[in-house]
Amino acid sequence: MCGVFGVFLEESQEAARYTYLGLYALQHRGQESCGVVTSDGSFLRTHKDMGLVSEVFNEEVLAGLPGRIGIGHVRYSTTGESSILNAQPLVVRTRYGTVALAHNGNLVNSSLLEKELQQDGAVFQSTTDTEIILNLIAKTKAKNLEEAVIKACRHLKGSFALTIMTDDTLIGIRDPLGIRPLCLGRLDRGYVLASESCALTSVGAEYVREVLPGEMIVIGPGGFNSYYYGGHGSETLCIFEYIYFARPDSVLSGKNVYKVRTRIGAELAREHPIEADVVVPAPDSGVAAALGFSKESGIPYDYGLIKNRYVGRTFIQPSQGLRDLGVKIKLNPVPSVLKGKRVVLIDDSVVRGTTSANTVRLLKEAGAREVHLYVASPPYIKPCYYGIDTSSEEELLAAKYSLDKISERIGADSVTYLSLEGLEKAVGTGADQMCRACFTGRYPVPVVLESEVKVRCS
Ligand code: AMP
Repeated sequence: MCGVFGVFLEESQEAARYTYLGLYALQHRGQESCGVVTSDGSFLRTHKDMGLVSEVFNEEVLAGLPGRIGIGHVRYSTTGESSILNAQPLVVRTRYGTVALAHNGNLVNSSLLEKELQQDGAVFQSTTDTEIILNLIAKTKAKNLEEAVIKACRHLKGSFALTIMTDDTLIGIRDPLGIRPLCLGRLDRGYVLASESCALTSVGAEYVREVLPGEMIVIGPGGFNSYYYGGHGSETLCIFEYIYFARPDSVLSGKNVYKVRTRIGAELAREHPIEADVVVPAPDSGVAAALGFSKESGIPYDYGLIKNRYVGRTFIQPSQGLRDLGVKIKLNPVPSVLKGKRVVLIDDSVVRGTTSANTVRLLKEAGAREVHLYVASPPYIKPCYYGIDTSSEEELLAAKYSLDKISERIGADSVTYLSLEGLEKAVGTGADQMCRACFTGRYPVPVVLESEVKVRCS
């Protein structure tokens, strides 16, 4: 999971600031590292580092990145290496000029491609599969960069949403199934590409449309051109974008994420009625579903848990003494809401179960009489190979245990999941076309099951 952004401005030299604002809006998609590349028409300049957008960029840094074209990336910490070498965008000099690339997604044939490229003499610095894409582009003989990008992308299997730039062109391209999102926006004098529409809103761009599966959009001084290189027409967007990843204000494939989440909550209430005193969301990922659940069930919604909104990453580990005192930095219960109550705790998903177990414990310690965990998605039973960080099947709670065992491990009085049919109903038209492999084990792109593949994520 990562976020990508790109901007092409006809006149203004402010591409770095636009990209900064775009990345700020996409920060939820990745907090490990971030970077911006801009072009002033002849040079590409880069700034990237480990950390949040607000930590890595400031006025001085942005002033050192002049230009009309920019791309940016926020990287999600995965099982792959957490290192500055993996920070994106990556920039290389090729026969097509200097090319910068930012990637959201995960290739499932990366180890094979890497081996082939290495046999041809390619060298790799990072452990991201993004470098493979750049190598493929660089070695492809073509009329121009656009053709080379298409030829390179035809070798890729898995998910990719890319923003690519040279000194005078911005390109956006999505894999043939459209597993990861990418949309196009228009400015008064320019264009924007972003993983999610919330980033368009942040820079004052008007949403135009999604970049379609298997489509490449090339933006230059005369506007944009669109090319199809292998899409099958229908989209196989990751359904987890609606459940957890995307920001609620984003619109994905014409559907507002917040609305979908409230429908998911309502569906959960219809599927599994319960008698309880209060509906409490797990902040912040359960909020929309909890509202939908409360409205449908008539059980009052209340803030039983408060998240400290100023906590980013905490660098300083509390000492053992403080830990023993039970210091809680991120999440705190509100005893007056919880004491003696039968609580329905709503969370978007349970992956390993660690988060829910902690949350349930907090509620119980604050005096909740019963805690029923309602999960606003079906049991997560299979690992994702297309860019979401889930580890092996052994770590997935629902893959290993029965409902009773899951309740026991989480410490809840009961655990209830939404059915797959319920999820599809809430998401609406086309949901049965989306990638739901984590809930079904049916992978839309065959996975090459090599151990290395699992640790590669850009
Ligand atoms: P856990 O069950 O402890 O692994 O964490 C699941 C919680 O983390 C969910 O409630 C989500 O809010 C969030 N989450 C779901 N999927 C992911 C993911 N792939 N990476 C990080 N957080 C996730």
